[in-house]
Amino acid sequence: MKSSEIRVRFAPSPTGFVHVGSLRTALYNYLFARHNNGKFILRIEDTDQDRFVEGAVDNLLNVLKWAGLDYDEGPQKENSSESYYQSERLPLYQKHIQILLDKGTAYPCFCSSERLEEMRSNQMARGEDARYDGRCRAIPAEEAKKRMKAEPHVLRMKIPAGETVIVDDIVRGKVSFQTDVLDDQVLIKSDGFPTYHFANVVDDHLMRISHVIRGEEWLPSTPKHILLYKMFDWDMPVFAHLPLLLNADRSKLSKRQGDVAVEDYRDKGILPQALVNFVALLGWNKGDDQEIFSLSELCEYFTLERVTKAGAVFDLDKLNWMNGQYIRQISEDEYIELGGNWLTKLDLDSGDYQKNKLILLSIRNHLNRFDELTEAASIFFKDQLNYSEDALEWIKKEESILVLEKMQSRLKEYKELSLDNFKELMKNVQNETGIKGKDLWMPVRAAITGQISGPELPAVITVIGKDRVEAFLNQTIKIGKTK
Ligand code: GLU
Repeated sequence: MKSSEIRVRFAPSPTGFVHVGSLRTALYNYLFARHNNGKFILRIEDTDQDRFVEGAVDNLLNVLKWAGLDYDEGPQKENSSESYYQSERLPLYQKHIQILLDKGTAYPCFCSSERLEEMRSNQMARGEDARYDGRCRAIPAEEAKKRMKAEPHVLRMKIPAGETVIVDDIVRGKVSFQTDVLDDQVLIKSDGFPTYHFANVVDDHLMRISHVIRGEEWLPSTPKHILLYKMFDWDMPVFAHLPLLLNADRSKLSKRQGDVAVEDYRDKGILPQALVNFVALLGWNKGDDQEIFSLSELCEYFTLERVTKAGAVFDLDKLNWMNGQYIRQISEDEYIELGGNWLTKLDLDSGDYQKNKLILLSIRNHLNRFDELTEAASIFFKDQLNYSEDALEWIKKEESILVLEKMQSRLKEYKELSLDNFKELMKNVQNETGIKGKDLWMPVRAAITGQISGPELPAVITVIGKDRVEAFLNQTIKIGKTK
């Protein structure tokens, strides 16, 4: 009996941080569910006791929330009557393994870890894949039953010999596997916990998952899963394996070449909208050259048919560029609020809301990531100027000295500098010297910031205040006049 409801799941094994590849898997599942009016389920695959990390689930939930990927069923959902933590579903796996034991498609294996180890190293030495040799298959059922009560054992699946299993994948097409190369996979470990493969298949069935959408690294496991479905006589979900994520040099995306944790990008001032938009394009496109998508647009356009087979390169420059687009796209209020938090975090808070606002607005157009504020806003907080070569060249010009000296004397007329009176002051300097445009503004910028490019000058002047402007001017004129 096939239900027509679209139900997909994100099934992470919480390991302490969320890999960007996991975010993509979560996102594609979410988009597919939303596009098809289906359900998006979060299931925590935490049966590997050795990999338990304190706080990992909370962190995962926070990341999903931050990214805006709301799930319909899963931990902390009011309507969840069953547990979505595999570690709390052990009786279900026990019940289901019994079915396979009764059918004879699973069997106990009593081999010691020493024997398995030796077998493995011999196989490797011969250049073969490491695989269980099937010795315990031959134990008669009655004997096996007795020994199960007395001896430690694992439960393995009996992979049929000489068959071909075809994975019919939406992304990859038909991929065939020979059962002769498949291992008699352990389904229940000696501690009674299920392995990933067993719990995953049982839960996908019990949770009525219609489409399994996950990373390509799981493709080699899929024939075993298909055999499990057959052993149980269950309907199969549709499979879609997402392309690998690659570094710029096309090697598999790894920590060594940059950040792989979503949390790292969040902590560097990447906006969730930007990361989601960027990750959406790692293996999917709309079919034209649109690159900026809101989450609701992605929900509208996303289909699995447009997921590509080829590995997707994680291009950090593109992510930064995209984040810049969002920094300019969000509302001014939101930008000031987020930027203000970052100024505090980076110890760059001027202590004055209006000044902070000026600083933030003056650099908004150049900012790609909030952590760039350290560099971009530093000009507002300097007590000492370091002149660049270009700046020195400007301030040594005779014309420039003229401008700066006029500014120096005009400055005395003001108690404080504001955006308006600075404009007026510069107008007067222009009229008195007859110098305008670049020749007027460059020396002033060089004198006040030591640089020839940077944030809007009126903002800089207003924020650093009259006293420092005066001090910088005096200092620069002196330097400019020394030949
Ligand atoms: N627990 C697996 C993981 O950590 C799930 C893989 C799958 O979706 O089947 O990615």
